[in-house]
Amino acid sequence: KMQRSKSVKYPNLHNYEVLEQMGEGAFSIVYKARHVVTGDLVAVKVLRKFQMDQSQKQAVLKEVTIMRQLNHLNIVRFIEFIDSSDYYYIVQELAIGGEIFTAIVKYTYLSEDLARHVIVQVAHAIRYLHEEVGIVHRDIKPENLLYQPIEFRPSANPAAKLRRSDDPNTKRDEGEFIPGVGGGEIGIVKLADFGLSKQIWEHNTKTPCGTVGYTAPEIVRDERYSKEVDMWAIGCVLYTLLCGFPPFYDERIEILTEKVAKGEFTFLSPWWDEISLEAKNCVSRLLTVDPLQRYTIDEFLRDPWVTKVSITHGINN
Ligand code: ADP
Ligand code: MG
Repeated sequence: KMQRSKSVKYPNLHNYEVLEQMGEGAFSIVYKARHVVTGDLVAVKVLRKFQMDQSQKQAVLKEVTIMRQLNHLNIVRFIEFIDSSDYYYIVQELAIGGEIFTAIVKYTYLSEDLARHVIVQVAHAIRYLHEEVGIVHRDIKPENLLYQPIEFRPSANPAAKLRRSDDPNTKRDEGEFIPGVGGGEIGIVKLADFGLSKQIWEHNTKTPCGTVGYTAPEIVRDERYSKEVDMWAIGCVLYTLLCGFPPFYDERIEILTEKVAKGEFTFLSPWWDEISLEAKNCVSRLLTVDPLQRYTIDEFLRDPWVTKVSITHGINN
């Protein structure tokens, strides 16, 4: 019965059985759904066409055009686009764990190793976008960072287990981490929501978009700085992962704007007291007001805190 009412609610979505809601945005609701033939679970972003003007519709088509080009482990995969009279449907890979945002709320904040595990994956997605596809995301935030949970499966071979427990050098069960089905810990991080993304150069030719040679300086400059926008956002996310609250906050929007413009943030005591100097330095190199001084994606990936190897393989500790 549920299924029937849902398919009436969402015409032209016949191939999918709509299941529970995963999240929502200003114009969209995202549902978990199951392909009726293959049984594959997917995410369907339903956009209310009838509430949109022409430019908003254009933006959805742009979002789809961008998503179609992308192929990376740390980016939610595009599956198909369905255009009905009242709705657009963007069918995507399902990130079953939901938002990193929820994980921060659940744990209050993440350990340095777990924060690194998350942010390095975000950085890999961003390096791919910036250096390989010529796209800036422009909306990186914990709500748009999703994940596939991962669960620890102890060794299946009891003999191997016995051998290990006899060996004083191997204390840890060297089982394996497998994709989980919910309730598990943060495994693979997936960047989502290309609704505000912008293509800065053509994918295959690596030439700038628009007519070369006729582009105004302010446009060239804007595009020069657009990657830095994502790096600032990575800084805000990393700060938030480590302490559980954002670097810039005020209820009064003018004051918040002023703080951001000046880059006024602090490593607030007592929350930051136990966090390493290396982590603080890394955050500071991202939250640098001058975009030319700010870390690029490659500089970030070479940072001493980022490259530090954790003894737990960086998984959830
Ligand atoms: P909007 O552009 O309206 O912000 P998003 O694409 O960010 O739309 O989707 C809104 C929310 O839906 C996300 O914050 C997340 O909670 C959920 N969501 C989106 N895509 C997926 C997905 N592929 N898997 C699981 N949940 C998703
Ligand atoms: Mg979003």
